[in-house]
Order: sequence, then C-alpha cells, then structure tokens
Amino acid sequence: MLAFLRGVVFYSFDAFKLEPRGDEDIGSPASTPFALHGTVLTPDTVVPDAYVVVQGQYIADVTTSRPAGMPIVEASGLILPGLVNAHDHPPYNIFPELSFGQTFPNRYAWQSHPAYIAFRERFSALQSQGLMCEMWKYAEVRSLLAGSTAQQGAYPTDYWACYAHPRILVRNPERINPALRTEVFPMRLSEVEREAIRRRVASSAYTRVIIHLSEGTDDASLAEFTTWQSWRLLPASVIIHGIPYGPAEFQAMRSAGASLVWSPRSNLRLYGATLDPRPALALGLQVSLAPDWTLTGSYDILRELNTTEALNRERFAGAITASTLVQMVTTHPAGQLGLDGRLGRITPGYLADIAVIAGAPGDPYSAVVSARAQDVQLVLIGGEAVYGREALLTMLYGPDAGEPITVCGERRRIRVALDAPNIPKSEQTLADITARLQEAEPALLPLDPCRAYRVNLPAVVRLVQ
Ligand SMILES: [Zn+2]
Repeated sequence: MLAFLRGVVFYSFDAFKLEPRGDEDIGSPASTPFALHGTVLTPDTVVPDAYVVVQGQYIADVTTSRPAGMPIVEASGLILPGLVNAHDHPPYNIFPELSFGQTFPNRYAWQSHPAYIAFRERFSALQSQGLMCEMWKYAEVRSLLAGSTAQQGAYPTDYWACYAHPRILVRNPERINPALRTEVFPMRLSEVEREAIRRRVASSAYTRVIIHLSEGTDDASLAEFTTWQSWRLLPASVIIHGIPYGPAEFQAMRSAGASLVWSPRSNLRLYGATLDPRPALALGLQVSLAPDWTLTGSYDILRELNTTEALNRERFAGAITASTLVQMVTTHPAGQLGLDGRLGRITPGYLADIAVIAGAPGDPYSAVVSARAQDVQLVLIGGEAVYGREALLTMLYGPDAGEPITVCGERRRIRVALDAPNIPKSEQTLADITARLQEAEPALLPLDPCRAYRVNLPAVVRLVQ
C-alpha cells in the first residue's frame, strides 16, 4: 500500500507519465525505527555517545538519551553522513590505473596517447558485449565499500534503468535532481546550446551546471575560464578541475555563485600539478573533493581523502583542517549537487544516508581523513543497510541478509540483488556480476580494497599559481 506517490510529470501525445525521482517520492507506511549508537559527526559538530534514530528513509532524531522501544545498533565507530562524490566516471572504475609514463599540458593532449586509446578499445569491447549494467554496478559497489552513498556521473541512456534506480546501490544525483546539467566538453557548446543553458539557469530549470573546465596547466587551460565567463555562464557553474586558478578566479566564482570540485590525485598524475585550494576556502567558496576516476585518480573517495591529507601536510603545512576535509566530501558536494536539505548531514529530516567508520572518538575528523575502506563498518542508504559488517547486517535483516564479501580478510555482507522484476538485471548478485566481468576483462580492478590500494602520491608534486 502506498501513502503517496510524487515525481516529475511528463506529457506527450495525450498521455501523462509520473516518474518518481527517488524512494522519497514513494511514500510507504512507516517502518519500524531503529537507532545507531556511537560518536556522531553531523559533520559540523561532534556529538559523543549519541543515538541516530532512523525511521523509514529518514533520520528522525539525534539524541544523547537512549531511545526506548527500538533496536539499538552498536555501531562502535564514528557515525557520519555517507560520503558524497561530486565527480566521477563510474563505468570506467572497473579498470586499474593507466600508465602514461609522462605528464601533459592539458586534457586534450592525452586523448590520443596509445595507453588511452587501448583503454577505450577495451571499454568499447565490454560495452558491445552488453556488460554496461554490470560495469556500473561493480563501480557502485566499489564506492559503497568506501562509505560513499551518492556518486555523480550518471547520464540517461538505455542502461540508466538498471543502475540509476533508487533501490540499486548508491544514489545517482542526476536521477533525483532533474535541475542538474552536465557538460564534459563545455568548450564545444554552440552558441545556440549556450543560450539554451543561460535561459534554463535564468528560469531555475537548471540550478547547477557541472562542467569540466581548465583541466591543464597551460595558458589555454586558464583561457577556458575567461571564455566561459564571457559566455555569461559562470553563475550556477560547478567547475571540475580549474587547475591554473588562483585568488582572482576564485573571487569571480564566489561572486557569481559558482563552486569548485577538486581532484588532486588525478591532476598530479596527468599534469604533475594541482591547484592550491587555500585561497578558495578562505573566500568561502564551496570546494569538494572527488576522485574523478580510477584511471588516474584515487581508487575511491576515502583514498582521495588520504591522498589530500598527505598533500595538505607536505605542501600546505597542514593548513586545511581535517574537519574542512570532511566537509569537502559531505556538506559541500551535497550543496554542489543541489541536494543540500536532503543529503550530507546527520540531522532530523535528512535522508538516512549514513556511513559508520571505525576510529577513535578523541580526534574523529582526523580518523575519517586517514580511514581506509577496511575501516568502513556499515553503510545505510535511505535507512536501509546496504553494506557492512556481517554481525550488523544479520542483526538487522537476519542470517540471509545480502551476500558475503571479504574485505581485507574480514567477512562483510552486501545487498546487491533485488526481487524487482521491473528493474532490468536486478536479480544479479555481486558474485554473478563479478564472474561476468572477470571472464570478459582480465585486468579487472579487484573489489577488495586491500588488493586494489597502492601508493597514491606521484613523485612530482607541484602547485600551479
Ligand atoms: Zn572527469
């Protein structure tokens, strides 16, 4: 029985179609509440010895008094918002790092490199074997293992139905926020297309325009900023990269209401350089941290945090606080994806997208930025535990909860398969998906983070000013 159904209405040839944007649009009768007990990072504040009450898809309460009449899950760790990944290319993330053996002046210079061309051929071969659903889901599982609950990078295609469904693995912001517009190659937009974007931003049909811009260290990369500005498209822009930017560009972005997504590891691998985010943060610009892809970036968002913390110590004298780094993977990206008010905080009324990470409560922010995927204890999406320690999953759902997965020698459980005949391939287990991909791709990146992780920082670390 449904309490309500809401969503986006499409009208065509005298027929109406209502498409829910996520589980929150499908009102089901309230389910039994439960509470997580641990140290809560909201993330602006730390609440020790607290209980997060989850009711249905939402956080109902955050309290220091033990709630009565509901199961208490002893999370034994830090309870924080599920990490929000503001920039990724998920289906590529089944491949390990590419070896270019050189750095480049800008993003256009490596598109013709033999290593990239060889990768594209392998990717296309998997696509032509009909494995895109499996690739998307495998990549989303990798995100979940790192405590991430939302991942940017989805786009409407025939595959969209099988992975970008609110009941399948991580949230796909593009599916739940129709006001997001994404352009990977914005310099190629025609004036007609640019005018259409300007009109839609003016009418709030688009509230965020997510673009790859200035990905390089040369003058041409910096000139992309002035070009975009001269096209009167800076307002509402979420700029991914912006490597050669300094205080002047950050100030212009702040004034226009734009924001920045930073992917330092990928920048360092490809260009031997990245930006200094300190002036941007000092201006109050929203800056989020995201891995970009496994081909040159970190293998997951926690690893990107580890890398950035090392860079912060080595190059910025530790000036970026651990709590700011945590905001850069929670509140900032949620805002940049237009999902503030719903995601990125542990507060009543927000969706119960929650990660529990093992760590000492004495210095919780530092514990999060130095956490590895094996420290992730539990991940909830919309109030449902999707992945976590076997004891927690079986306590919540019984001994048949999901399927087993070994992470760094520890038994975990994950819920991938669904009994949902209307969602293509939803019956596939993670074991099915992994077997199909292993058969098709000998170089498949292992799921187990302990097998996949490697030293992150490249030898050359240079800042662009
Ligand atoms: Zn990218």
